[in-house]
Amino acid sequence: MYEAILYEPMARQAVRCTACRIRCVIKPGGAGVCGVRQNKDGKLCLLVYGKASAVNIDPIEKKPLYHFLPGSRIFSIGTIGCNFACSFCQNWDISQRARTLREQLMKEKHIEDIGLEVGQYGYELPPERVVKLCLEKKVPSIAYTYNEPVIFFEYLHDISTLARQHGIRTVFMSNGYESEEALDLAGGYLDAMNIDLKSFRDAFYKKVCKARLQPVLDTIQEVHRRGIWLEVTTLVIPGQNDSEAELQDIAGFLSSVSTDIPWHISAFHPAYQMKDPPRTSRAVLEKAYDIGLAAGLKYIYLGNTEDDQRSATYCPGCGAALIRRTGYRTWMEDIFNQGQCLRCKTQIPGVWQ
Ligand code: SF4
Repeated sequence: MYEAILYEPMARQAVRCTACRIRCVIKPGGAGVCGVRQNKDGKLCLLVYGKASAVNIDPIEKKPLYHFLPGSRIFSIGTIGCNFACSFCQNWDISQRARTLREQLMKEKHIEDIGLEVGQYGYELPPERVVKLCLEKKVPSIAYTYNEPVIFFEYLHDISTLARQHGIRTVFMSNGYESEEALDLAGGYLDAMNIDLKSFRDAFYKKVCKARLQPVLDTIQEVHRRGIWLEVTTLVIPGQNDSEAELQDIAGFLSSVSTDIPWHISAFHPAYQMKDPPRTSRAVLEKAYDIGLAAGLKYIYLGNTEDDQRSATYCPGCGAALIRRTGYRTWMEDIFNQGQCLRCKTQIPGVWQ
């Protein structure tokens, strides 16, 4: 069993986990909300250390990240478990597994067995092996994705510390619940994040995700303040978060942090427990795009839909198209070089090499 680094001991062998903003207080034998961090005799243990639930090599645009090494491939890895319980999760079979086990074992009053249960999922993939695979496949970066990375922090910390020694970059695909302690520890290797801003209504976060809005807003501000490259994604769900007022609130908030933050507006497809709303219409996606522009955001992209025009990067200085995308295929125009528009010399924010 792997002892966590992000926790504090408390009285009577309880511990406080400091990985995410929920900050679970866990009694001996118990497990945190995510279901993968268990208190064993006063020590917090990570139950999924070295246990990958899914691994792929993807185009980086699939994450999505559009201003970070465009056109490159990224090693994608996740474990089971999540600190959210979004009813529309597309990876629910892995993200919700540990949480469901935890709830079931709590009901049966056998929560101490969670280590045995969770240990059955995922396959052995130690940090050295992940880095070796990246080097063999010549993949320049690693994305922690599929489930919330911070819940398996100690595993990714060891991978990325080693990866950094080989010049491999690190990316989190996050729900925005990282604690400041986690961001501090990741500071030596965390190059970029894409944070989901799923709604601008606390009621939505509570009901649909079993989480809260404010911690996500705090993380977005904090990540930007720390200078970590940041992009934000909103999945627009018909009838849930697609009102003009809410989209304006999201765009206005992002704009208040920085108009340089790329905003990915993603189309919803029915998934998991959310089967009723239809797919997001083209009209709503275009409306959201225009709202982003009106709020002053300079880089807005439509995703999960075919729209080459609204998935290109335009120079905010002269309006020239600099990076074009079709599906996950990306190409730079000749007038774009190392982040600069050669026509008007505007520098486009991002990580280009
Ligand atoms: S990472 Fe898991 S155990 Fe730790 S505070 Fe978050 S939900 Fe709780």
